[in-house]
Amino acid sequence: MGPLMQRVKFGKIEWIQGQNQGHFPFCNTLLIQDGIKVVIDPGAGLELMTQVSDHVNVDLVINTHFHFDHIAYNYLFRQSKIYLNEIEGECFQDRRNILKRLGMMDFYGDEWAQGWLDRISRPDSVQSPYSPQNRHEWWLSTERLDGTYGWGDMMDFGATKMEIIGTPGHSAGTCCLHFPDEGVLYTGDIDLTSFGPWYFGADGDMELFIHSAETIAQLDAETYITGHEAGIVPRSDFQAGLKRYLEIIDRRDETILNALAEPRPLADICSMGLIYGKKFLIDEWVRAWDAQAIQKHLDHLITRGMIKCSDGIYIRI
Ligand SMILES: [Zn+2]
Repeated sequence: MGPLMQRVKFGKIEWIQGQNQGHFPFCNTLLIQDGIKVVIDPGAGLELMTQVSDHVNVDLVINTHFHFDHIAYNYLFRQSKIYLNEIEGECFQDRRNILKRLGMMDFYGDEWAQGWLDRISRPDSVQSPYSPQNRHEWWLSTERLDGTYGWGDMMDFGATKMEIIGTPGHSAGTCCLHFPDEGVLYTGDIDLTSFGPWYFGADGDMELFIHSAETIAQLDAETYITGHEAGIVPRSDFQAGLKRYLEIIDRRDETILNALAEPRPLADICSMGLIYGKKFLIDEWVRAWDAQAIQKHLDHLITRGMIKCSDGIYIRI
């Protein structure tokens, strides 16, 4: 028996809870069965998404951003048009742009990138337990791009209208999707998880993330649907949860400050696993993201006047 499909409806919009409560690398998906039939972020899981692709003539698949967990099952929707935001659309035209945006190109270089393209092109590549870096779905689900949308666009599916809200920070082009008539906002990866905000890619930005999160908390929506875990969150709970969620950014600053009780070079700080935990650093992607997160926070602490960097050594002031 396949996983039980948990669905909640708002007008013609259905929330499909992702496998494993939508924990990464799954996500919560939306299905809109209107005049135009739409799937938003088909990452809920293979069986759940197959149930949808088998039973609904989906016209349009919309990805809020290019990350694996939000695009993984695009490939099941062979008859549908695939849309991604216009900033990140390049990722489906040349897959190297995925690596550039995630920071892997800078971190590991061109030759490594070629190896990655080879690994994802085959269904039998060795997988990492800690990231979906080598999954074949990367290859299958980025094969075509049929259109792009921009921030501020209004899309009309029949009875359902959808406004694209640009919410950069998690990635450069990522969006939240606002359904004004139903009072619903799909928040993508402004997701209130206990891990905290993710802005660790080369195209991620901590300050923009905070700004985007605070902006959506003020939108006219009664129901927030997060891209992972919690799922359906009433407005007041979203605002309270968001405060705790954004405070995790401050705690990361504190963790790094504590690690600088004695002066340390960057490589030393990055070997400590301060963001993900040490055991996860064996995964190449996690190691790069941990290092990029550390670098972003070190820059932030320098801007705040709390540390300085002298001859490559970081020192508390
Ligand atoms: Zn994401």
